[in-house]
Amino acid sequence: MSTDADSNQQAPVRTDVLIVGAGPVGLFAAFEAGVIGLSCQIVDALGRIGGQCIELYPDKPIYDIPAIPSCTARELVERLMQQCAPFDVPIHLEQRVMDVVQRDDGRWTVRTEQGMTFDAAAILLAAGNGAFLPQRLLLPEAPALEDRHVFYSVAKLADFADKNVVVAGGGDSALDWALALRTVAKRLTLVHRRNGFSATASSVDSMKRAVEAGEMDFVVGMIAGLDAPDGTLRSVAMKHVEGTSEIAADMLVVLYGLVADLGPIANWGLDIRGGRVEVDTSNYESSRAGIFAVGDIANYPNKQKLILSGFHEASLALRRAYSYACPDKKRVHVHSSYDAKLAERVHASAT
Ligand SMILES: Cc1cc2nc3c(=O)[nH]c(=O)nc-3n(C[C@H](O)[C@H](O)[C@H](O)COP(=O)(O)OP(=O)(O)OC[C@H]3O[C@@H](n4cnc5c(N)ncnc54)[C@H](O)[C@@H]3O)c2cc1C
Repeated sequence: MSTDADSNQQAPVRTDVLIVGAGPVGLFAAFEAGVIGLSCQIVDALGRIGGQCIELYPDKPIYDIPAIPSCTARELVERLMQQCAPFDVPIHLEQRVMDVVQRDDGRWTVRTEQGMTFDAAAILLAAGNGAFLPQRLLLPEAPALEDRHVFYSVAKLADFADKNVVVAGGGDSALDWALALRTVAKRLTLVHRRNGFSATASSVDSMKRAVEAGEMDFVVGMIAGLDAPDGTLRSVAMKHVEGTSEIAADMLVVLYGLVADLGPIANWGLDIRGGRVEVDTSNYESSRAGIFAVGDIANYPNKQKLILSGFHEASLALRRAYSYACPDKKRVHVHSSYDAKLAERVHASAT
C-alpha cells in the first residue's frame, strides 16, 4: 500500500471506489474491494492512517475483534495494513474531501480541499465522526496569526529555531513537541491550564526533568490574549488563579487535541440524522444511490459503533458498489479459501 501526503495532482484519479477515511473500517474496505476485484483509492484528512484507533487510543488493548483475543489499537491498524498490502491501494493523506457532483454518466467527481479530484463509480464513506481537526484557540486575534505565529501542528523544527516558543496543552503531542522544540528554541515555555496531564507518565517525567534542569519553563494558566500590535506576535497573556502574566513569544503552538467535524459531507444531500448518514442495512447505501456509509458514520436501527460492525457493513456495501463499477458483469462469489488469484497475491506480497 502506498501513502502519499503531497499528491496535489490536477488530473482526476479514476477508480471504481473512493474510500473516504483511513480508519480501521476504511482499511478493511480496501482489502474487501481488492478481494472482489474492485480498484479503490483511500483519502484521509489526517497525515496518518488509523482513524480513532491511532488518534485516540493507540496503546489501549482491544478484545472484541474476531479471532484476535487481544491487540492494541495500533497493532490492529498494522494488521489491517498487512492484510490489504496485496492490493497496493494508494492512500492520499492530508486530503479532506469537500464536495461531490454526480455526472450524467452516473459517476462521481469528488474534490478535496487540497486540490485532488477523483472520478469514482461509487463512494464509500468510512469517515467516522467526520474529519479530525485541531481544536483551535478561541481568541478573536488568533486566526489572523495562524501559520505565521500561531500553529496547530509542527512541520519542521527548524522553523522554530532561536525563537521564543510557547506550547499549549497537556496531552502527549503537547509534551512531546515541547520536549523536541526546546532543543532548537531560544526559550521554550509549556503552558497548561492545570498541573496535571493526560500525557503518558514517561513524557510527564521527561518534561519535569527538563524544567528542573532549566531547559524549559512550565506555566499553569489559561491563555487570555495574544499581544501582536503590528501583526507580529510579541507575547502571550496568561490568566492564573491569582492574577495575570505575560510570556514573551514569537511562536505559539496550540496542541489541545482533535475534534471531529462531519464538515462538508453534511452538505452532500444525504439523509443525515444526529451527524450520521442513514443507510439501508441490506447494502449500507445512503439516500443517494452509489454513495455508501459504513463504520461509525453509518446510522440505522440498533447501530453499534464497533469495529466489527464496520467490517461487515463494508463487505456488504462493496458487493453492491460492484454493480455500479462493473454494470455489465455478474460477480460470482468465491470463498477466499478457494480464491486462487487471491492466494497468489497474498503469497506474492508476503515474500
Ligand atoms: C477510546 C476508544 C476505545 C474504543 N474501543 C473499541 C473497542 O474496544 N472495540 C471496538 O470495536 N471499537 C472500539 N472503539 C470504537 C472504534 O474505534 C470505532 O468504532 C472505529 O474507529 C470506527 O472506525 P471508522 O473507520 O468507521 O472511523 P474512524 O476510526 O473514526 O476513522 C475515520 C477517518 O475518516 C477520516 N475522515 C473523516 N472525514 C473526512 C473527510 N471529509 N475527508 C477525508 N477524511 C475524512 C478521519 O480523519 C478518520 O481518520 C473505541 C473508541 C474509542 C474512542
